Amino acid sequence: EEGAKLLGLTLTSRNNGAAAKVPLAGVPAKALDDYLSRLVKLGRRVAICDQVEDPALAKGIVKREVTETVTPGTVLADNLLADRRNNYLAALVGRGAREAVTSFGLALLDLSTGELSVREVPSAELRAELGRLEPAELLMPRALAEDPAVARAAPSTLPRTVRDDWMFEADVASAELLKVYSVQSLDGFGFQSGDEVLTRAAGAMVQYLAEIRPAGVTHLRPVRIYRPGRVMLLDEMTRRNLELIEPLRVGEEGGTLLDVLDETVTAMGARLLRRWVLEPLVVADEVWGRQKAVGDFFDRPELRTRLREALAGVGDLERLAGKIGTLRVGPRDLLSLRRSVERLPAVRDTAIDASAGMVTDLGADLDCLDDVLDLLSRSIADEPPAALHDGGVIRDGWSEELDSVRSVRDGARDFIASLQVRERERTGIGSLKVGFNKVFGYYLEVTKSNLDKVPDDYVRKQTLTNGERYFTPELKEWEEKVFGAEDRITHLETELFTEIRSRVASAVPRLQEVGGRIAALDVLATLAAVAVKRAYVRPEVHTGFDLDIREGRHPVVETMMPREEFIPNDVVLDEAGHIVVLTGPNMAGKSTVLRQIGLIQLLGQIGSFVPADSARLPVSDRIFTRVGASDNLARGQSTFMVEMSETAAIVHGATERSLVLLDEIGRGTSTYDGVSIAWAVTEHIHEHIGAKTVFATHYHELTQLGDLLSGVKNMNVSVREVGDEIVFLRRLAPGGADRSYGIQVARLAGLPDEIVQRARELLAELEGTHSGGGEGLGRHGAHRPQSERATDQLSMFQLEHPMVRRLRGIDPDSLSPREALHILYELGSVTRREEDD
Ligand code: ADP
Repeated sequence: EEGAKLLGLTLTSRNNGAAAKVPLAGVPAKALDDYLSRLVKLGRRVAICDQVEDPALAKGIVKREVTETVTPGTVLADNLLADRRNNYLAALVGRGAREAVTSFGLALLDLSTGELSVREVPSAELRAELGRLEPAELLMPRALAEDPAVARAAPSTLPRTVRDDWMFEADVASAELLKVYSVQSLDGFGFQSGDEVLTRAAGAMVQYLAEIRPAGVTHLRPVRIYRPGRVMLLDEMTRRNLELIEPLRVGEEGGTLLDVLDETVTAMGARLLRRWVLEPLVVADEVWGRQKAVGDFFDRPELRTRLREALAGVGDLERLAGKIGTLRVGPRDLLSLRRSVERLPAVRDTAIDASAGMVTDLGADLDCLDDVLDLLSRSIADEPPAALHDGGVIRDGWSEELDSVRSVRDGARDFIASLQVRERERTGIGSLKVGFNKVFGYYLEVTKSNLDKVPDDYVRKQTLTNGERYFTPELKEWEEKVFGAEDRITHLETELFTEIRSRVASAVPRLQEVGGRIAALDVLATLAAVAVKRAYVRPEVHTGFDLDIREGRHPVVETMMPREEFIPNDVVLDEAGHIVVLTGPNMAGKSTVLRQIGLIQLLGQIGSFVPADSARLPVSDRIFTRVGASDNLARGQSTFMVEMSETAAIVHGATERSLVLLDEIGRGTSTYDGVSIAWAVTEHIHEHIGAKTVFATHYHELTQLGDLLSGVKNMNVSVREVGDEIVFLRRLAPGGADRSYGIQVARLAGLPDEIVQRARELLAELEGTHSGGGEGLGRHGAHRPQSERATDQLSMFQLEHPMVRRLRGIDPDSLSPREALHILYELGSVTRREEDD
């Protein structure tokens, strides 16, 4: 009933004898995948119930069972899986007391490839991890179903599967793992004492898998344990702000770092690249290893081309392994497997010629699966049909029995074909035809005008508008021969195919291993190809502190304009100036420079080359970004709240080894609040964290920080004023911007002239009342260093201007005219002095 509603089907019913009417809604078996995908996309679980015995042999009602449950996290239908990304089912268990879960054990399974991994995630990072991994379904114990930490971390759209707590208990879970992997101990996977949350999550996962696929799977790979410290945690805002894999504006296509980098030639490579982009390395040795491999392909074009050509023909071995493991493999899959395996020797030979250790490690002893190739090329036809029962899957010569039944069938068919000539002679009907259709089988067809010549032994089979179809006892006999042979052939082909499939299945772990290596080789060669195409250079990634980028470019923005139009820029962040206050009018290019620094740093840490003339990059532990006022109204928080909580997360998480990129903090509140908060945050980073920081702001008041704090320097994205107009130079220059140029930008944006004119007048007035530009932000409190200028200059937002204070202190009634005049002189000179400043 529900399915009818969801899928728009007609609800009918079936009367099963004495039983009440059973509601029923049907879809054609052929269209199953389509309907399944619609249900699964709606977040539904679908149980598939199938016959489990041969109807021909069954006594009474054919036995049926639920053979499979399809859920969003475990779908395998090709039309539901994006080939360039993984589809994960996640399982979660909590460490710590019910109310105070300190961390989570997170298991992740991609059923389509058989990869299973576990990791422990601190509560505070769960949201970031789930955001990065984007599972399609979340399995968890009842105990966590109401947990506020989980509710905060998991998007509300993520389908949840809740199971009883006992499934997640340590004993049960380990027993399940031992059973699934047929091992005596879990030590071989690298589990250590204290890893209970990991085994619990993985154990519950495999138990759930048994529930949804009762027949089991044979392609589950050994559990891989991810320990913290090997890769960088990228929080959600950084991932989004840097537009690593998704554009900021949802629904937009392209414009991400992944789009620029993804020139992989295999789906496996595409999936791995995506993971690499989201998991920059934090261990210098590993970065260097990848860099060397990319460098090898960069320096040797012929090696790169040769490898990419060889890889281009390799199909999705990981997913093929999954299909074999879940018995979903069809004849064409085996053909595609054969075609893929044929390419492996070329891949291996290229790798042998490489000089980088990582490439030779991956490829020089690549298992070329010769036995699988031999099996497939001898057993599977060159152009098999999509479905096994269509026949012709098994190659001639593979089975003597099959060959002889086929020749019986062919002989019988030939004989039937020869009947056309014989019967034409016998009957004198020149237009008599022998034909075949699926419903009626073989027939002799005679047109209306010749019906009088039809002999007596013809038996009518079917009447047409223009004639009649007949059979004869002889035709019937030969038809039976054909059909008999065909049945036998189908049976034999199925048997042979099943046997071939199970022989291939025993090679599944090898296929998966090869698939993983192919993916890595693909990504390394791709990074080199992109580096060549886009003129990237090899960065010097080091373990020191300084970041020094010369003529750096934004990898994505530069692709959106002709090459010479993008203006490159230098950025140096070192001990002497590890915080840069970056000013410049709106639209000048601040955000672009800011993100460009983050992207170059990230590219460096995934082992890639970078868009610059040269770059020295430290290995950073985290990259934080806060860019613009990203609306988060959906979560019911005001923009300012979001901004502040993101800023809080940065201040808490950053260390001296982090790269912090802040764009316009404090914009969501009043100017005074905003400047104050931005100021205090910068001070805090300077004094307590020491992180390399770039702070883009249009509050030019903040440039004073450059004078006050030793590690802070000012830079601006320069503009030139030509008359009333401004020209964006997009060039970074030392020093702060002097003004906001807001009105000029507004004019550029097409604000009507009268408004612009009026705004100018108002600005002039405002600047007049605030004594000369109103710049300056004084610091108060004797315990902080203060420059003379800062005390002298008076904040435009300081509540009590000294002049005001002075005026307040006057009692006009008690002043002599002379004293009054004296005060006027005094106030006048203060104003002039401020103007001079
Ligand atoms: P801001 O953050 O200062 O408001 P943006 O960084 O958003 O400015 O830049 C505005 C636009 O200027 C960008 O969309 C881009 O098209 C262009 N732009 C920015 N930097 C450059 C550059 N270095 N070279 C060429 N065009 C640039």
